[in-house]
Amino acid sequence: MQDLVKIILKSGKDQSAKRFHPWVFSGAVKKMHGQPAEGDLVAVYSNQDELLGIGHYQQSSIAVRIISFHEATIDRDFWYGKISNAIAYRRTTGLLSDESTNAYRLIHAEGDEMPGLIVDFYNGILVMQMHSIGMYQNRELFAGIFKELLGDAITTIYVKSSSTLPAAFRDTAEDTFLLGNQQSVEVQEYGHHFAIDVVEGQKTGFFIDQRDNRKLLAQYARDKKVLNMFGYTGAFSIYALHAGAREVYTVDSSQKAIELTDKNIALNFNSDVNHHGVVADAFKYLQELPDDFDLIILDPPAFAKHHNVLPNALQGYKRLNQRALEKIKSGGLLFTFSCSQVVSKENFRKSVFAAAANTGRSVKILHEMSQPVDHPVNIYHPESEYLKGLVVYVV
Ligand code: SAH
Repeated sequence: MQDLVKIILKSGKDQSAKRFHPWVFSGAVKKMHGQPAEGDLVAVYSNQDELLGIGHYQQSSIAVRIISFHEATIDRDFWYGKISNAIAYRRTTGLLSDESTNAYRLIHAEGDEMPGLIVDFYNGILVMQMHSIGMYQNRELFAGIFKELLGDAITTIYVKSSSTLPAAFRDTAEDTFLLGNQQSVEVQEYGHHFAIDVVEGQKTGFFIDQRDNRKLLAQYARDKKVLNMFGYTGAFSIYALHAGAREVYTVDSSQKAIELTDKNIALNFNSDVNHHGVVADAFKYLQELPDDFDLIILDPPAFAKHHNVLPNALQGYKRLNQRALEKIKSGGLLFTFSCSQVVSKENFRKSVFAAAANTGRSVKILHEMSQPVDHPVNIYHPESEYLKGLVVYVV
């Protein structure tokens, strides 16, 4: 094993690592034999001197993100193995051979035992987004491994971490191309077409994680009047229109998002499609909404990024859902989501419950929704299940 700074945990604080949870909180650290630099590999030990894992050190509330729970040399072969495993997993799911889809996630951080690293693939463009400095420092190494494993299937590699790394590193971590320089591309998702701009777009360029929920929506959209609230690229709207929706409204507070929606509508349909793009605030728009919508989608940005704002976030979900539940037509369907990692499935369901109770309407749960297979949930890290949603039927 390499010569690494040793970090000893307080007694009793080793349980989480023993159960393979990859986060070591700074409060669990008893002492460090030396001072690791930000992003350095460190070895984590229990107070009884048992090796718990090896991970990336960072001066933050999560002090170490464990990448191996066993003795290991962390070199190119180690990362090659991890990335190969992640690709093999996706091959097993059938995703990589589905000809109707060429946008997917190849590395889902803790879900792929690579905490701090997100890698998305958009029809030839690979976008790497790092959330830890340790992962960021390996960007060239990862780019080389992906190139070796995927060959000509990738023409561009873009590193987009300036807004996701800890604040102290953002200025130095300029977003850059490590291979090629293609900024935009058209992708297909279950045969639907989308224009992606990896530089200008939100996150890595697209919300790939809603793929299966959009497909589910299509099952219910025929002949419906649909409101797609927080629409961004208009992806839910495009599925609804393909599935025969009567009329679709896409609403987003960002002008750029609605422009992107219009572009995507034009990619998929001819000019007589019954779609309206609206730039508006969700809460205001819902307040004035007519009561003849058959299907409403609520896919807001994360209301809580931290535990300390959880109560406010839950109130936010309640208020938002209440407005939609008040307005939706009798016999209508609501697709409602939360992508906040700190909001549990139970808490989200309780918020929708409280919203429903305030309206006094009859509300039934048809489906519980989650994230697709390329966003795997690590069983030891329940936080990797961040996307949750409900389809409810309202009378
Ligand atoms: N449903 C989308 C993803 C939504 S991301 C998809 O399938 O791809 C969240 C979107 O909410 C962003 O585009 C953001 O501009 C928008 N947004 C944020 N706050 C808003 C508000 N108060 N009212 C309306 N839209 C808002």
